[in-house]
Amino acid sequence: MPDAFAERLLAWFDVSGRKDLPWQVGDAYRIWVSEIMLQQTQVQTVIPYFQRFVQSFPDAAALADAPLDDVLRHWSGLGYYARARNLHAAAIAIRDQHGGRFPATFEDVQALPGVGRSTAGAILALSRDERHPILDGNVKRVLARHAAIDGWPGKTEVAKLLWSLAEQHTPDDRAGDYTQAIMDLGATLCTRSRPRCEDCPVHVDCQAFAADAIDRYPGKKPKKAKPLKETTMLMAVSRDSLYLERRPAAGIWGGLWSLPEVDDIDDWCERRAVSSNVEVERWQPLRHSFSHYDLDIQPVVVRLPKEAGAVQDGEDAVWYRLDDEPPGGIAAPVKKLIDALRSSEHVPNG
Ligand code: SF4
Repeated sequence: MPDAFAERLLAWFDVSGRKDLPWQVGDAYRIWVSEIMLQQTQVQTVIPYFQRFVQSFPDAAALADAPLDDVLRHWSGLGYYARARNLHAAAIAIRDQHGGRFPATFEDVQALPGVGRSTAGAILALSRDERHPILDGNVKRVLARHAAIDGWPGKTEVAKLLWSLAEQHTPDDRAGDYTQAIMDLGATLCTRSRPRCEDCPVHVDCQAFAADAIDRYPGKKPKKAKPLKETTMLMAVSRDSLYLERRPAAGIWGGLWSLPEVDDIDDWCERRAVSSNVEVERWQPLRHSFSHYDLDIQPVVVRLPKEAGAVQDGEDAVWYRLDDEPPGGIAAPVKKLIDALRSSEHVPNG
């Protein structure tokens, strides 16, 4: 017998749950891709990315065989690029260690790069109707409010309590529907701000609702001031091309194409046998927020003579024609700068 919480949720799901999401028709591969995309991104944003992604990479073998640049290009704008790099690495593991078939056991799924306990549970529950508790951000919020669990879910003892509630509520039957239902509840009714408790199927025994203390749950992360870092990004333009470099695989924006970060612009030009008397234009700084720090980017445009267009064009550096397809994935603030440059140069979008 499912407990009252699961029963109410399933009855609500039968009437109001989302049953037409593009990854709900298909196999574990599609569900896996959607779960990774949904980790930090809202459903509505994910849908077009998901559709383009599975059109280009219809299964794990196609994803494993694709160059990483191609995968990152499909991820451009979604952020948290480690997700895309992990997806690609996991597809290679599926091809090489599982004969191209998506693994079927919890241990094998959880061993894939980028897949934790909750994501592994969600993939198996949604694709095989197996009973596995999940605890993503939405579910943490629902359970913390429903049972009035104090404390920040990032703390081990709070997470332990939430996992045991997740375990307790997950039914033996219809585990897949239940999993979709609790994710939907968190995404559509029990939202971060202004939840719609009057429409919620579990409001009858929701403790946060009864105490009129919804804002208290889940507990907030203790605040630390975010450090501010600064960098100068060089936009070296030669004719209709812009100089881009591929970032190292480790670190922020790993493997993405970016503008070089330069301390000394004259030195950069001289090392490329370009006169240091180039025209330099400083743009308004641009702030980008990462989860752990803010980054102030000072964009500097230098216009190089024609002949500079030939230097430094190797595997990890490219002169990118502004009306062409980008060479791979590009981080959002860099794309913003490139778009601004393109319009200032009056070059059509690539
Ligand atoms: S009653 Fe409100 S706070 Fe409680 S679970 Fe439902 S939506 Fe969330």
